[in-house]
Amino acid sequence: MNQVQSSLQQLDAVVVGVGFAGLYQLHKLREQGLSVRAFEAGSGVGGTWYWNRYPGARVDSQSYIYQYWFSDDLLKEWNWSERFPAREETERYLNFVADKFDLREDIQFNTRVTAATYDESTQRWTVTTDKGESFSAQFLVMGTGGLSTPMVPPFPGHDTFKGQTLHTAHWPKEGVDLKGKRVGVIGTGATGVQVIQTIADQVKHLTVFQRTANYTIPMLNPKYDDAMRASLRAQYPALKERVQNTFAGFDYDFGDKNFHDLTPEERQRTMQTLWEDGSLNFWIGGFKEVFFDEAINEEISKFVRQRIRERIKDPKVADKLVPTDHGFGTRRVPLATLYYEAFNRDNVLLVDTKATPIERMTEKGIQTSAGEHELDILIFATGFDAGTGTLTRIDIRGRDGLLLKDAWADGIRTTMGLQVHGYPNMFMTMAPFSPAAAFCNVPTCLQQQVDWITDCIQFVRSQGLKSIEASAEAEAKWVAHHDELANLTLIPKTKSWYMGTNVKGKPPRLLAYVGGANVYRQACDDVKARGYEGFTTA
Ligand code: NAP
Repeated sequence: MNQVQSSLQQLDAVVVGVGFAGLYQLHKLREQGLSVRAFEAGSGVGGTWYWNRYPGARVDSQSYIYQYWFSDDLLKEWNWSERFPAREETERYLNFVADKFDLREDIQFNTRVTAATYDESTQRWTVTTDKGESFSAQFLVMGTGGLSTPMVPPFPGHDTFKGQTLHTAHWPKEGVDLKGKRVGVIGTGATGVQVIQTIADQVKHLTVFQRTANYTIPMLNPKYDDAMRASLRAQYPALKERVQNTFAGFDYDFGDKNFHDLTPEERQRTMQTLWEDGSLNFWIGGFKEVFFDEAINEEISKFVRQRIRERIKDPKVADKLVPTDHGFGTRRVPLATLYYEAFNRDNVLLVDTKATPIERMTEKGIQTSAGEHELDILIFATGFDAGTGTLTRIDIRGRDGLLLKDAWADGIRTTMGLQVHGYPNMFMTMAPFSPAAAFCNVPTCLQQQVDWITDCIQFVRSQGLKSIEASAEAEAKWVAHHDELANLTLIPKTKSWYMGTNVKGKPPRLLAYVGGANVYRQACDDVKARGYEGFTTA
């Protein structure tokens, strides 16, 4: 250990972020007897569920699979109130977990990690925070989330606007009183949809600035009573197993029937049945061809377009809200309740920013090519620099001082989304080229990744080794495999955060591994079973 490092507080591991992954990682490493400290920029646990306090925030995965499986007591004690709980409930759950497992004592809140530098001579990381402190740790786990760096479009005149501006991911804790206000929402992704349907009947006037219309699926969200909870609890052991063996880490999976094997009537019936489930089942529990076959995708898209159109009173408004420029499911499909009904209200105006682009922000609101929209409050539901955004904003330097941002300048590379060659002993969750980055019920994939990382760290320690690092060859192989699968799908044809095209200058690249969470898990297990094949140890 060099002099600088020996003067620092010594830890076995640092965990960055205490959302779903970070909390579990902290628990697992402590269980293995490691000294761990977790750093969290927020004042509480929850990650996504801490930050995204916007009105209507709600989970799109069923609560009974959006949870941890590691503790039977936890599964017994926690009661979900409904199928798709609101943000507050998921945040409460994660607080319950933090308390139950005494995790707070090792979490440093209100502290942002600003830099992490690998020292080859000691094979340790020096981690620096915005509080001016530094720590030395053998292992570094980035539980920083895939959707945690909010994007605000740089409209000219931003500072001239006299009203209030808000990004949905930085919503004030004390809330915002929208009653009687003229509110604008930019963005109609999963977040915008939830905001719009929630505030439409609260505000005086709502102007929705839509650039791309999205497909949505109606959410069916029954409340759970004790009998329902008991019935679900009885299924937990089977569900825990099941979610690990499906394409997207949900309890449902693609049917075994091929679209072409069904008659047109059977296809319609199947789609209708899936539609009525009121969940993402229609998307990732229906026909796998939706991702691969343009003609089949179009047939499925047509079905959804029709369902959307039926709900909108004004055909001209429907023309704008019904997507026609991309295929169903090639970007994230939100669940919605009263989204289209919001546009049937007299106090809601839809502005198509492709037809009449936003030119600038003014003192009074937004100026489009067709005129000015006066607003008291403007909400940016404009998304995130996904996958790479948070990691590249931290000064992460691996071997030879190479900045991660520079290492990725010629193209993202990771080994199974878990490590990057040149960054020994650094692990990531929800990072690019793993299904967790987009195509997974997030807790399923995060728990799998944390379990893998924990086993890997345990392996290094038990063998008396100091470091483990993905080899350049294994990494190149994984990247090639990722790209090959990505290019077999229709997803690269559609612009969205899945491809990074929402961020100016980000080269289009599918961020998430599309081979399936089940296939990915097997690949990770195989690497482990073969003594961490493709990784070099020292
Ligand atoms: P998003 O899907 O990236 O949507 C951002 C929206 O802002 C898009 O409609 C985008 O239009 C629009 N936008 C961005 N810049 C713009 C500009 N300069 N002018 C006009 N419009 C602009 O982000 P998100 O809605 O926050 O969702 C991100 C992800 O978070 C989701 O896909 C989902 O995975 C997750 N999420 C999940 C839930 C849930 O589980 N219930 C809820 C919310 C979010 P374009 O489409 O034209 O780019």
